[in-house]
Amino acid sequence: MFNEMDYALNLKRVDEIIPRHLSKDWLGMWRALKNKYRIWGITVKKLFLDFDGCIVNSIKAFCQTYNYLYKYKADFVPADWMKVNQWDFGDQCPLLEGSEAVSETFASKHFFKKLEFMPNAKEVLYQLHKEFQIIIVSIGSHLNLARKSMWLYQNLGFVKDVILLNNEGTKMDKLLVNMKDSFFIDDVASNLNSSNAEIKICYGQIYPWNDEWQGIRCVKWNEVIRLLKGGID
Ligand SMILES: [Mg+2]
Repeated sequence: MFNEMDYALNLKRVDEIIPRHLSKDWLGMWRALKNKYRIWGITVKKLFLDFDGCIVNSIKAFCQTYNYLYKYKADFVPADWMKVNQWDFGDQCPLLEGSEAVSETFASKHFFKKLEFMPNAKEVLYQLHKEFQIIIVSIGSHLNLARKSMWLYQNLGFVKDVILLNNEGTKMDKLLVNMKDSFFIDDVASNLNSSNAEIKICYGQIYPWNDEWQGIRCVKWNEVIRLLKGGID
């Protein structure tokens, strides 16, 4: 079983065995290695984690925002987030005109006001952050990322490591992030496929953007913690 006190003591022991004459650069390298490899029988792991559709129910917040912003338009029919089956929301939000309108909805104040955690996500992440370095990786427009950053600060303050990739002006890809020797959880199969992560987990319900995924799948956050902690003990 993982024991927090043992962990602290063992890391202290590792620090103590470094010869005093070593340079500061070498010490930096040693500390980086310490976080990477099994030392004294303990492995410190990194967990890269997608935001939309993994930590939070973005599909639900998106449909609620669409219903709020478009309700006075002609031919409006309320969107049902449970029935969304298209990446661009074209099936439930047909009044959105092009990718620009989708992007604006994702960046709106109302979207972040409505955004909810996936069931048990916050509780599981709180437990996991004691054993893993959690790094959130998310792609969005400039305004979406600015508001996302504030949302994370206000709602998930114990996660300090966040990589936000701005896709305005260029096509952005999470393969830019080196996930070697780490776990990676995402709901989009193409993100998982292009990553160099050691263990990849597809999160959530089956959608067209992940239905071809053949690897590990977790539908609930309780399954994620069982899997990740099982790998440590
Ligand atoms: Mg996602």
